[in-house]
Amino acid sequence: MQFGEFRLSVIRECNFRLDGGAMFGVVPKTLWSQVSPADELNRIQLSCNLLLIDTGSKKVLVETGMGSRWEKREAERYEVEMLVDDSNVLSSVGLSNDDVDAVIISHLHFDHAGGACRMVDGKLVPTFPKAKYYVQKGELDLARNPNARAKGSYRQDDFMPLIEHGVIAVIDGDKEIVPGVFAKVTGGHTSHHQVIYFESAGNKGVYFADIIPTKSHLSPPWVMGYDHFPLASCDVKSQWLTQAAKEKWLVVFDHEVGVPWGHVSLDEKGRFDFQALPAETLESDAVFSS
Ligand SMILES: [Zn+2]
Repeated sequence: MQFGEFRLSVIRECNFRLDGGAMFGVVPKTLWSQVSPADELNRIQLSCNLLLIDTGSKKVLVETGMGSRWEKREAERYEVEMLVDDSNVLSSVGLSNDDVDAVIISHLHFDHAGGACRMVDGKLVPTFPKAKYYVQKGELDLARNPNARAKGSYRQDDFMPLIEHGVIAVIDGDKEIVPGVFAKVTGGHTSHHQVIYFESAGNKGVYFADIIPTKSHLSPPWVMGYDHFPLASCDVKSQWLTQAAKEKWLVVFDHEVGVPWGHVSLDEKGRFDFQALPAETLESDAVFSS
């Protein structure tokens, strides 16, 4: 989809499932199950939606998804269904892994950094060999030394090879990665979680990452049980959504199973609503359920 002078594409990297209760925190199941039905193991369907921003001079990939390095038992636990080949992640948009100049990872949980590296001849190598991988310093510090509560969401093999190969670009705070594409720290989900804000020729957009993973998480108090700082998530959602609604930003959701981009509106009662763009705007063969 054209976006000012940028070209945007969504690459659906995988489908997977997580526990519905963990995905909706303190929201009662009687409410969340109406918008995200659970399976017999109480899991809900999710996707990993990567965003490719082609600015004309640089190609920036937002997130890397789950990747393919999963033991059978884990793959079954999360019902991982890979939709791309990790040697050719961008084939649906006619590009190769070598074409990516920058990768921005919102935070290092396995469903965001899992695809950062891939296994070649028994060795872990960066999936996008010519790219710099942009990660917040505070996030990397936490991921390398997580406490007992945070530990289950991080795998050292997702990011340590990036350091060993010298492709990681550690940033500390908000940063313009390439002209018009910005990493902005929100906290909430993790202490240094970042969203990706982008603008071109008067168009503005944001990739919310795990601050708003699906359209069902629009309501500010509907924050994930996984969040380290849920009250901060609630506040940061209100601030970003209010501005996004007022200025008609494009919003992109990382784990939405339907069309993952569109616009938000704010009604007179203070409720946010999401209007997805038509599926044709995705220009992709991947299946996007409605
Ligand atoms: Zn996630």
